[in-house]
Amino acid sequence: PLVLGIETSCDETGVALVRGDTLLFDAVASSMDEHARYGGIIPEVASRAHLEAMVPTIRRALGEADVDLSEVDAIAVTAGPGLVGPLTIGASAAKALSIGLGKPLYGVNHVIGHAAVNQLVDGPFPGRSMALVVSGGHSTLMLVEDVATKVTELGSTLDDAAGEAFDKVGRLLGLPYPGGPHIDRLARDGDPEAIRFPRGLTARKDQAKHAYDFSFSGLKTAVARWVEARQDAGQEIPLNDVAASFAAAVADVLTAKTIAACREHDVDTLVIGGGFSANSQLRDMAAERCAAAGIDLRIPPLRYCTDNGAMIAALGSSVVRAGVAPSDLDIPVDSSMPMAIVTV
Ligand code: ATP
Ligand code: MG
Ligand code: FE
Repeated sequence: PLVLGIETSCDETGVALVRGDTLLFDAVASSMDEHARYGGIIPEVASRAHLEAMVPTIRRALGEADVDLSEVDAIAVTAGPGLVGPLTIGASAAKALSIGLGKPLYGVNHVIGHAAVNQLVDGPFPGRSMALVVSGGHSTLMLVEDVATKVTELGSTLDDAAGEAFDKVGRLLGLPYPGGPHIDRLARDGDPEAIRFPRGLTARKDQAKHAYDFSFSGLKTAVARWVEARQDAGQEIPLNDVAASFAAAVADVLTAKTIAACREHDVDTLVIGGGFSANSQLRDMAAERCAAAGIDLRIPPLRYCTDNGAMIAALGSSVVRAGVAPSDLDIPVDSSMPMAIVTV
């Protein structure tokens, strides 16, 4: 089946066409430039940008894929989690297409889409796999038994997401927003063992209750205190070493818990997705530790890691092929959609 996917959970308007596990075209328009000057996403600004970008982005995807709208077999759209205003714009566009074409509509989970997009690159998932989705809004570990029907959340962040923690530390180091990629760059020339920052939720007492949950706000505070103490003493801040030590702490906790979950659940394929999987420190540490543990690591190229329509079309394609019932035309968009729900 040919699936048209629409993504509008945050600041990217994404539209893609997928047939089976093949991506025909992925068109993305971003309103990030408009948000950068505010140092964060403004939901009203994002909603308006989605409204303006929607029809041109759909047209561009169809044109580049050389597909006529009448050839589309199903529409998939992000139902959540995400910002309610932006989600509603995407759901409305998808609903209009569904009614106009007389084709089924599927409201799907954005976070699971970040994992599903991998199938366009590395092929169908094996029977069972582990997925770690890390982005500006999420740090979620999931056991994927069937990406279209059976996903179980094993853990998630109790406070900041990994990308969010990077952005906050970026701000306190005086880096432009979003700080994540800047810290990554600085960290490459720093010593990851220069400063021993705390690893959240890895103490014995925390482990019992939060085996696969994450916490990054304590780490962010520890970096802030370390930097303040240096500044108070009138000392230079070794930006490269701070960035490298901080990035190492985040990558250490993410990979250690994820690999422990693979072992416990006897899974030997790990999929990493989400905008933060662009992070070099995480990529390097995951590659090293997965190789040592005999785990097949799948991380797609960067353009598939950030928010896009391909992830939604890919998940929609799996859902259609699994024979899942279409969604109600009035898709109930849900800002905090649980991982147990793949399709609304
Ligand atoms: P979500 O996907 O949860 O809705 P989002 O749109 O903010 O949220 P993405 O666009 O997928 O997420 O990812 C952006 C986040 O990833 C930002 O926090 C950004 O700083 C971070 N990020 C991007 N590249 C890197 C990098 N190389 N190193 C560290 N962080 C990075
Ligand atoms: Mg984004
Ligand atoms: Fe996302």
